[in-house]
Amino acid sequence: MDGRTIAAIATPQAAGGIGIIRISGENALTIAEKVFSPVSGASLSRSAGYRAYFGRVANEGKDIGEAICLVFRAPHSYTGEDVAEISLHGGLFVMQKALETVFSAGARPAEAGEFTKRAFLNGKLDLSGAEAVMSMIHAQNEQAARAAQNALDGALSREINAAAKEIIAVAANIAAWVDYPDDDIDDISGERLMEVFSKTKKMLEGLLSRFDSGQAITEGVPAAIAGRPNVGKSALMNLLTGYERSIVTPYAGTTRDVIEETVRVGNVVLRLSDTAGIHDTDDPVESVGIGFARKKQERASLIIAVFDGSEELTDGDLELLDFCSKRTSIAVINKTDIGQRLDVSLISSYIEKTVEISAATGDGLEELQEAVEHALGTDNFDPSSAMLATERQRGCCRRAVGYIDEAIAAVESGMTLDAVGVCADACIGALLELTGEKAGDAVINEVFASFCVGK
Ligand code: GDP
Repeated sequence: MDGRTIAAIATPQAAGGIGIIRISGENALTIAEKVFSPVSGASLSRSAGYRAYFGRVANEGKDIGEAICLVFRAPHSYTGEDVAEISLHGGLFVMQKALETVFSAGARPAEAGEFTKRAFLNGKLDLSGAEAVMSMIHAQNEQAARAAQNALDGALSREINAAAKEIIAVAANIAAWVDYPDDDIDDISGERLMEVFSKTKKMLEGLLSRFDSGQAITEGVPAAIAGRPNVGKSALMNLLTGYERSIVTPYAGTTRDVIEETVRVGNVVLRLSDTAGIHDTDDPVESVGIGFARKKQERASLIIAVFDGSEELTDGDLELLDFCSKRTSIAVINKTDIGQRLDVSLISSYIEKTVEISAATGDGLEELQEAVEHALGTDNFDPSSAMLATERQRGCCRRAVGYIDEAIAAVESGMTLDAVGVCADACIGALLELTGEKAGDAVINEVFASFCVGK
């Protein structure tokens, strides 16, 4: 085993039409050659690359099956190294057998994300690009996929690099001025410093303000459907999920535990829990459910509070209104298909956005979607703009803004230029950590540890 050449199954660990084994590293082609024989008799290790070879995979002379091997040559491959990709009939047993053969021929098992890590180390993409690969794999809707593709194309890196370049120029000027006081280097003006810092701060703050709505689209938002028993929470959950998941009955207290579902509402993915109606009960099982429901509601980023439009408000409704008034919430007035007795104006005095629907007929669903998008700030989401995709990137961005604030304060209070220079350097450090240009091993390892094996 050479240790430098890695291999893994790149397709899902399940039976499928085709499974792919990816081998990358300096001995990728000689290893591929030991396990795969092209029917044409061609030599893989002498291949110019970018060809597909039809042949058979065998383990010590024992045939495993027919396969196609693709050859890529360094540096023009995903990892930047020599790569062989062997596609076989995707049975789990066949794939495992073939992979073991590749290992006995000298490759070692790839760690999680190691192919992409090599791409990063070989300069094929930066760290935010690598994170975009992960976002792409997990994209649950079109906008999330477009945002990930955009990040992969470098939308975020371009903005960050441009900002870093301007601050580097300022810092270099300050450093020259501080280090060579006797030379004729112009003192950079306070105005110029403020111009660069303010511009960068504005751009970074724009990224930070779009983070939550971006996350709502790409990662989803924990949301809870709340309301007293029998207002139609389960019916609404079923309407949103499109099938009977919650048990809808005319008896209060049927939803005892918390039912969770991932649903797409407009452009947002909601990780939705239909929580048990919170009310006083002596039933021990029901009270456990109610305890869970309270926790879910407290942790939710969005509460969809359901009220029965055909009844007057009860104390339970008022309690919920009070709870929602301090949180991001939407009031849903349900059962518009029957006679209305609810005082909607009272609800509006607690929760700004009210939507009238009938979970039974589906009327008002579109208004509810719009309200959800508006409440989470995703209604004006533009997937083509630069976007922070991970908590790590947000942390770097926040640190950079903090250092800019310190630099601005230093300029404003008339501190010496070297004090401003220290803040500028720290800001550059945070920006370059975001793109990975100056990220430590620990940061890099953490990013790739969340990848899957084979990517
Ligand atoms: P939950 O306890 O809040 O989950 O309420 P359910 O979803 O179980 O609904 C309670 C009762 O209200 C059931 O009999 C439903 O059929 C009825 N219901 C729910 N939504 C509507 C609606 O929009 N219109 C009418 N007329 N009845 C509804």
